[in-house]
Amino acid sequence: MRTIVQKFGGSSVADPSLIKNVAQRVVHTKDEGNRVVVVVSALGDTTDELLDLVHKITDHPGEREIDMLLSTGEQVSIALLAMAINKLGYSAISFTGFQAGIYTDDAHSKARIIKIDPQRVRQELDQDKIVVVAGFQGITESGEIATLGRGGSDTTAVALAAALKADLCEIYTDVDGVYTADPRVVPSAVKLDSISYDEMLELASLGALVLQPRAVEFAKNYAVPLSIRSSFNDYEGTLVGEVESVENCRPVSGIAHDLNVAKIGIFDVPDCPGMARKIFLTLANEKINVDMIIQGWVRDDRNDIVFTVTRGDLERALPVVEAIVKEIGASGFVYNDQVAKVSIVGAGMVTNPGVAADMFKVLAREGINIEMISTSEIKVSCIIQEDQSIKAVNALHAEFIK
Ligand code: ADP
Ligand code: ASP
Ligand code: MG
Repeated sequence: MRTIVQKFGGSSVADPSLIKNVAQRVVHTKDEGNRVVVVVSALGDTTDELLDLVHKITDHPGEREIDMLLSTGEQVSIALLAMAINKLGYSAISFTGFQAGIYTDDAHSKARIIKIDPQRVRQELDQDKIVVVAGFQGITESGEIATLGRGGSDTTAVALAAALKADLCEIYTDVDGVYTADPRVVPSAVKLDSISYDEMLELASLGALVLQPRAVEFAKNYAVPLSIRSSFNDYEGTLVGEVESVENCRPVSGIAHDLNVAKIGIFDVPDCPGMARKIFLTLANEKINVDMIIQGWVRDDRNDIVFTVTRGDLERALPVVEAIVKEIGASGFVYNDQVAKVSIVGAGMVTNPGVAADMFKVLAREGINIEMISTSEIKVSCIIQEDQSIKAVNALHAEFIK
């Protein structure tokens, strides 16, 4: 008997009739002779609405209480979905993250799953039940509720699939699969039948919100076969898996863009060992994630260092940077939160020289200035002005996706 984990995102359970639609899909999978575990997100935009409520109460809510609040969204959906499945004459039981044995570290609002003990889930599956698990939440060692970051239900589903050694993890969402670019921004984007774990990891990390990056990491590390598909039709979705050979890979599989980026520059950093360590260790200690880093050419024993953080971290980063500037004797700093990152991703890039140059050619042709560049074997990313990002993504798509 196969074990299948199915995850339904917020738009798939936005109202009672959609919840009933999900229940139908779930029991259909059960009827095919599978053991079924379902992971659900909060209804529609509930998580955003709960965050709006917080801001109406206080500017300093405290991370523990935010997680306490946000985790309620998923609790509503698991109970309603279990009821809808039961109404169809099947037997379902809902579990919170804690009840499903999902243990996390204590980094509230961006907790990482450290262990899953799916004993209760297994027991209920053995009793022929459909198990419905709350996405996005787990329990810390000290018994606190912690959430996994936005989009975290994807990670709950894949991690559970890994722990249960499931045969397949299906992510049901509001698009037919993974597209060559965000279909909301690039109307000509096309659905991919398959994509490698590595490419998907890059696309997700570079802003393609269709999957949480951590979910892809889990899928790759535990070889979980992953399918992304629509909860509104029966089309085949996109399979995420291992690539057979790099030679057969597309130079560019997809284009991603990310508006959640801010840029900080520190001027005239003394050119001596330990400066980068000082800057980035201090930021790391404040739990501020740094993404791209550029250090220029040394002039007069001084150097400029530019890096990016998420916009959410900018406010916390600025006083830290101000203190660092004073301490190391740099001449000052600037920041800009009106930037965006556009990226091209493709596993075949490594065997196709000139892909990066082609990207720069397209951006130049569109009159778009490149402010920062970073590359890896399978991606090239550029920081540009935010108001040019839609133009950039569409032009890059037209150039690379034929
Ligand atoms: P869910 O609520 O089901 O988790 P999300 O909103 O998190 O759904 O993710 C689905 C959305 O991801 C789509 O509506 C789409 O706009 C966006 N998206 C961004 N990049 C891509 C891409 N390359 N392929 C498909 N969808 C993408
Ligand atoms: N409800 C959470 C969010 O909106 C988790 C998820 O949907 O995956 O981010
Ligand atoms: Mg999502």
